[in-house]
Amino acid sequence: LFCVSQRQMAFRLAIQHAGRQRILDALRLSQEQLLDVKRRMGEEMNRGLAKESHDQATVKMLPTFVRSMPDGTESGDFLALDLGGTNFRVLLVRVRRWKRRSVEMHNKIYAIPQEAMQGTGEELFDHIVHCIADFLEYMGMKGASLPLGFTFSFPCHQSKLDQGILLKWTKGFKATGCEGEDVVTLLKDAIYRKEEFDLDVVALVNDTVGTMMTCGYEDPLCEVGLIVGTGTNVCYMEEMQNMELVDGGEGKMCVNMEWGAFGDHGELDDFSTDFDKAVDEHSANPGKQTYEKMISGMYLGEIVRNVLLEFTTKGLLFRGKLSERLKTRGIFETKFLSQIESDRLALRQVRSILQHLGLTSSTCDDSILVKEVCSVVACRAAQLCGAGLAAVVDKIRQNRNLPELKITVGVDGTLYKLHPHFSNFMHETVRDLAPQCKVTFIQSEDGSGKGAALITAVACRIRDAGQR
Ligand code: ADP
Ligand code: MG
Repeated sequence: LFCVSQRQMAFRLAIQHAGRQRILDALRLSQEQLLDVKRRMGEEMNRGLAKESHDQATVKMLPTFVRSMPDGTESGDFLALDLGGTNFRVLLVRVRRWKRRSVEMHNKIYAIPQEAMQGTGEELFDHIVHCIADFLEYMGMKGASLPLGFTFSFPCHQSKLDQGILLKWTKGFKATGCEGEDVVTLLKDAIYRKEEFDLDVVALVNDTVGTMMTCGYEDPLCEVGLIVGTGTNVCYMEEMQNMELVDGGEGKMCVNMEWGAFGDHGELDDFSTDFDKAVDEHSANPGKQTYEKMISGMYLGEIVRNVLLEFTTKGLLFRGKLSERLKTRGIFETKFLSQIESDRLALRQVRSILQHLGLTSSTCDDSILVKEVCSVVACRAAQLCGAGLAAVVDKIRQNRNLPELKITVGVDGTLYKLHPHFSNFMHETVRDLAPQCKVTFIQSEDGSGKGAALITAVACRIRDAGQR
């Protein structure tokens, strides 16, 4: 009798294990699938660049009007704004040529209240200008008029450096009356309303471009900028002759890919799961930013929570008990993925994280499974991101007709920087899928602040030279 029940037990465990793996398999991607992602990304890039297909393309490949990298002769004091993620920051950046590329920065972080994020555009920009005024006073520079670089990390249609029409909000922003408007004008109008100071808005900058610039200041091989934080996006230096949206065929220009929208026309349907659909449905922008929602910090925790829900419903986790906590959207933040996967963390500690989340009835087995879910979700994100990046570096290599390309990618974003395995998985995928490219990754220190100031500095240098 004992033998039979042991056999039955083993059988039950095997079934349970198979059930769990079947659910997780939907989140595992093969080398062929990743190559497919790379190929499709490459196609979308070409469609975004070409005039006739641009309107239908999901990856918009937006011109940034950034054409020159800093050459070390820039100098001056600049203000920078960083809007586009978790925090809003105002910075004072002092660039000194005679101190061999020294950059001194002061910054202050301001919260963007929910009302400002989702109220009217006027309220949002009045709040931003209020923060600038506070910052100038804090720095003892009240009333100063400085050149300003505005890092605004949303898709904008630019026709020059200091102008950009917001195409759509992403990452939870919703303020009304901004889409379709020039955000530099919205900022200038708000400065005008405040009647306290005047600012020379020189450049509108995407955070990817700021990141590339910051890293390019140190390493001239850096021609790609990547963000993996709240959202994800990439920019890189493209040949002007491939950019049909801009007149003139000489030299290069930085392209803001806005790759987060990849998949919005079904390009990722083969790889997307019910968990991705659930996350999308309850997001602020359903049907949009498909690739971003599979990769970036704003969403990975929610994907994990949805997988855990499924496991629990199937009786494979938490003894099949669905708690109210687990049903609550947003409880599983992406930072928990980093904590749970940290190599130093014992299973006992995973359990205490789960307890902290109010998921109290967990066993040791549950902890192992939760850790596996976190690992699979983060690995898929990193591989998808790597597959996209492989398409980018291979395109640059092909543009230049090179059998081999040496290139540096500047990276920013808390998920990339703090997750214990994300960067390794991503680097490995790029190596596998773009073997003809020797890619070096460097982390940018505050790309969006310093980069905006550097771009502003370059623009001022060129402008001043033209006036001489
Ligand atoms: P942003 O992209 O908003 O400019 P960050 O690069 O700092 O700013 O990214 C913030 C995002 O990083 C948060 O939305 C969060 O999802 C994620 N995050 C925060 N802490 C961690 C962590 N320890 N590990 C992984 N992701 C994290
Ligand atoms: Mg940022």
